[in-house]
Amino acid sequence: MGKVRVIAITNQKGGVGKTTTAINLSACLAAAGKKVLTIDADQQGNTTSGLGLDKNGVPLTIYDVFLEQATIAEVKQPTCVEGLEVLPANISLTGAEIELIGKDDREYILKEALDKVKDDYDFVIIDCPPSLNLITINALTAADTVLVPIQCEYFALEGLEQLLHAVNLVRKRLNRHLEIEGIVFTMYDARTNLSLQVVEEVKRSLGENVYRSIIPRNVRLGEAPSHGLPIHLYDPKSKGAESYGLLAEEVMEKEWD
Ligand code: ADP
Ligand code: MG
Repeated sequence: MGKVRVIAITNQKGGVGKTTTAINLSACLAAAGKKVLTIDADQQGNTTSGLGLDKNGVPLTIYDVFLEQATIAEVKQPTCVEGLEVLPANISLTGAEIELIGKDDREYILKEALDKVKDDYDFVIIDCPPSLNLITINALTAADTVLVPIQCEYFALEGLEQLLHAVNLVRKRLNRHLEIEGIVFTMYDARTNLSLQVVEEVKRSLGENVYRSIIPRNVRLGEAPSHGLPIHLYDPKSKGAESYGLLAEEVMEKEWD
């Protein structure tokens, strides 16, 4: 076993900051000298474009990996960040689930593909789609840990129970090593009591699995993807860059067996 850690960024709710976290956590880990592969497992391909690639111009995507037409080594692309590679995705991924109907071991395709290359990396970060579909199951089966971004808003905890249930099922049936990496609060607004209440409530129920670094709501984080840049290159002095830098430090500090 290598020292690589495979982290699936999962929350079946859309718009909670999964993709923003995948891009910027990956970029900050690479900027700290780690070798990182970011796997875009969402048909929207926003991680791919957010890292500066033309998602519709790449020759191969994760779809080809799911159909076992290409290896990760053949599909991956370099990015604007040194030490950071991406396995791109685009709308073609939508078709993969249909193609895989009835296939044996279809939950293990990503894991088996990743096993061939993962020792080349310190971290593999998987950006999951906003649902608990077969692609997400593949990500959870391939992962060592699950990182859950939670948006600091009123319905933040809705769906968390379902997600933890899914993690438990995967652990029982597909990947007994799967652990919870941690909860990351995103889009925190210091001006509202609500953000504070959400943080307190989650900490009460999930305690030690909550990261100290909290990602604030920051306009620059929203702007960076349209420039194809992670936040530490787009605006290194922004609050967003600072907070993702701190999160990356915490992720690196954490020791796993
Ligand atoms: P998900 O991948 O969970 O759907 P995204 O990361 O795509 O969520 O975020 C949803 C939207 O919110 C995007 O437009 C993104 O740029 C924006 N966003 C994410 N995090 C922040 C933040 N901390 N501050 C401001 N905007 C953010
Ligand atoms: Mg996303």
